[in-house]
Amino acid sequence: MIIDLHTHTSPRSPCSHIAPEALVAEAKRLGIDGLCLTEHHALWDPSELADLAGAGGIALFTANEITTDQGDILVFGYPEPVPGVIPIRELHREVAAAGGLMIAAHPLRGFKVFGIGSLQLTAQQASRRKVFQFVEGVEVLNGRLNETENGMAAQVAERLGLIGTAGSDAHDLSELGRAATVFERDIAGEAELIAELRARRFTHGSVR
Ligand SMILES: [Zn+2]
Ligand SMILES: [Zn+2]
Repeated sequence: MIIDLHTHTSPRSPCSHIAPEALVAEAKRLGIDGLCLTEHHALWDPSELADLAGAGGIALFTANEITTDQGDILVFGYPEPVPGVIPIRELHREVAAAGGLMIAAHPLRGFKVFGIGSLQLTAQQASRRKVFQFVEGVEVLNGRLNETENGMAAQVAERLGLIGTAGSDAHDLSELGRAATVFERDIAGEAELIAELRARRFTHGSVR
């Protein structure tokens, strides 16, 4: 089952240019079986989500992309409002108590432009970043990042034994399909999605 674990729709994510119905229709056209809507600090009402999935004929899941003092985190299984930037330690405490899953989104985005020191950044050094102490997983294939950035994230995931996921991070329709997670099993609901991620029964792919 092909699921894009990282997508944004308008207006819940103000930076997205995609209406939810258009995203679902394009996913269906591309052969993507399911989408996880990961709006920025915004949650979907479960019944609205079910209506959208039913009309579009694909599976829909929700998570929440939460900005912390250590970068953006995709949070699964914690459907609580988080109004603003939150210290990662605090978010981790709450999500862990709820049994949720935290995945670092695009963790090495732009690492080449952070400063001259970062040009020589090794995977070993990158692995020491604080964010990685608080997440179970890392996005190792983000559709908006280049190969160097994704490659470094993959090396970090490997070194630290973290779950490595893939998602398009689509904010525009043309970005959908660049990266997706291909699960071995069919998945229904967020609890199963989390279980399959923790069991690491998936690979990565793209449908474009
Ligand atoms: Zn982000
Ligand atoms: Zn995002």
